[in-house]
Amino acid sequence: MSKNRALILILFSLELAVLVPLGIALLPKTNTTRHIDINARRFGYAPPRIIVNKGDPVSLRFYSTDVTHGFQLDGYAVDLIARKGVTFQRKVRHAAKGHLKIDWQRVSSVRFVANRAGKFIFRCTETCGNLHPFMTGELIVRPNMAYHFFISLSIWLVLGTFMWVRFKNPAGSNRIKRINLLEKFPWLKRLVMRRSFQFWFILPNFIVFYLFILSSLWGSPVGNRNIAIVFVWILWWFILKAVMVPLGGRLWCLMCPLPAPAEWISRKSLTAVHYLKTPIRRLHHRYLGFQKDWPKKFRNIWIQNILFLALISFGMILITRPLATAIVFIIILAGTLILAMLFRHRVFCMYLCPVGGFLGAYSMASMTEVRSVDPKVCIKHKEKSCYSGGPEGWACSWNQYVGNMSRNNYCGLCTECIKSCPKDNVGLFIRPFGSDRKLKGYDEMFNVMIMLVVAVAFSVVMLGPWGFIKDAANVTETKQIIPFLIYLAIIWGSALLVVPGLFILIGKGANRLSGKKVDDRTMTLQVAYVLIPVGIFAWIAFSLPAIMVNYGYIISVFSDPLGLGWDLLGTADRHFKAFIPEWIPVIQGLALLSGLYLGLSRCFMGLKTLIPDRNSQIRAMVFPSVFALLAVNLLLKLYMG
Ligand code: SF4
Ligand code: SF4
Repeated sequence: MSKNRALILILFSLELAVLVPLGIALLPKTNTTRHIDINARRFGYAPPRIIVNKGDPVSLRFYSTDVTHGFQLDGYAVDLIARKGVTFQRKVRHAAKGHLKIDWQRVSSVRFVANRAGKFIFRCTETCGNLHPFMTGELIVRPNMAYHFFISLSIWLVLGTFMWVRFKNPAGSNRIKRINLLEKFPWLKRLVMRRSFQFWFILPNFIVFYLFILSSLWGSPVGNRNIAIVFVWILWWFILKAVMVPLGGRLWCLMCPLPAPAEWISRKSLTAVHYLKTPIRRLHHRYLGFQKDWPKKFRNIWIQNILFLALISFGMILITRPLATAIVFIIILAGTLILAMLFRHRVFCMYLCPVGGFLGAYSMASMTEVRSVDPKVCIKHKEKSCYSGGPEGWACSWNQYVGNMSRNNYCGLCTECIKSCPKDNVGLFIRPFGSDRKLKGYDEMFNVMIMLVVAVAFSVVMLGPWGFIKDAANVTETKQIIPFLIYLAIIWGSALLVVPGLFILIGKGANRLSGKKVDDRTMTLQVAYVLIPVGIFAWIAFSLPAIMVNYGYIISVFSDPLGLGWDLLGTADRHFKAFIPEWIPVIQGLALLSGLYLGLSRCFMGLKTLIPDRNSQIRAMVFPSVFALLAVNLLLKLYMG
């Protein structure tokens, strides 16, 4: 196919992708007045979804059958509170000197015209219990053109990528362009070379983290009123998923306060290096404890995968109950201390940490890496100080040898190798997104599947309007054991059986279509890479509402960190207001399409090293692309449909 023909085809299909939703939007609709009764009950609305046509007059009666609830509708000036059989509507009016005055008027119903099309979330604005931040419902105003537009764009993206690959020069370079930040910014190198570099990252987190444990234990048991929950599960979780992982991979491991005490104790030092001229079992340091080697059969992330699944099984409880968060922190802390006394290296971080389970495979796509500047220098250097330790830096506590490190999975970015290398041969590089493109084992492939399944599951449970699913996940409060077990069976079954099983079939199919140039396992692991960018961006899309809707809680807890009724800065009782909430579905859609494009394009690049023939690459990508497209469309349906 010639370049021009490919471009014409791509543009023509884009036109089609735009025109089809437009055509659907122009289909004639009749308008009728909708009388809707909405009953709020912890933690859902009945009905959970309302569907109307654009232009329909809507008459809405809102009431609560238990505690006080709010009803704030994104994109419309509808803001209600229902308490004890009475409903109030929030009215904003202009008072003297241009000031705004807020009144709450008693109403029996409210009327509005559904003049904006799309999906609009209504949410509770009154703290009504543990799951209050997740109490939502949905108003769909047809034609939902934005949703249709994103569906057709996602299909176009897949077809367009295939056409582009078909046209592209097959001999085109697959070389990754990298920039060594330490070379470019000498001041950064001076900072990194300081012994206390990592310590200063850890220290503030360490202080804050222990204060959070205290606030979890003694502050308000209601999540959105406790600084620990608000900061950890709204702010930190968002920054981790949306910023740190795509940009810095395991950047969080550089500053994580959880394993820090164990490392300080085993090194008997906060920052200084204790160097031994004669190595003990290859390492030039004497650590405290038994310093055994982690058993070979467990040097994979199977346990981490299971621990991650176990933790997220109680995810709803964990992120809404301060006590549960404190208990998990304390268990992790104890685990790191015990393991550091028994084993060498950070075995907890590498093989067990549930947060690490999230970071490991996803860090392959991140835009930062620590690598040797010139691998040939490493080959000649007999000492391998980056691995065994030197007078200026500790041996790599992640058991990595920089000289042949080609992936980010197990690099905690601690920067010790940069200091310990006497040849000045270790750099901190920025690189394009999705540069490590090889999964090495089924443990990693399962990890990628688990992450995707959990992103979908959390989107259903936490962002969806279905109160009965929230009740099932909220088992400690609702005591609904059977629904909870069904909920667990669906998550565990999908993550460990259905999705990986399907993908193994996809891998086989891809291999067959491509002409069986490699074995099925290699092909399956290679094409599974497509789900890393898709998964990262699915998590970003999932986390967006947490910060855009709930940022107000961050401002509130500054005034009342423990939820004890203080108002230190006068922000404790701020009225709930989301940030451009009507745009959230569109931003989520954009994030998902970005993940889809990056997944496909990076997977094609990875395949290039496996099967050089372009037609075989294209055939190999058919099934994985359809799978990725379906996954993205499932999430589009949840966020926009
Ligand atoms: S110490 Fe430096 S030169 Fe030696 S192997 Fe490690 S990175 Fe390479
Ligand atoms: S490879 Fe270097 S930066 Fe990465 S964990 Fe090991 S010592 Fe730290």
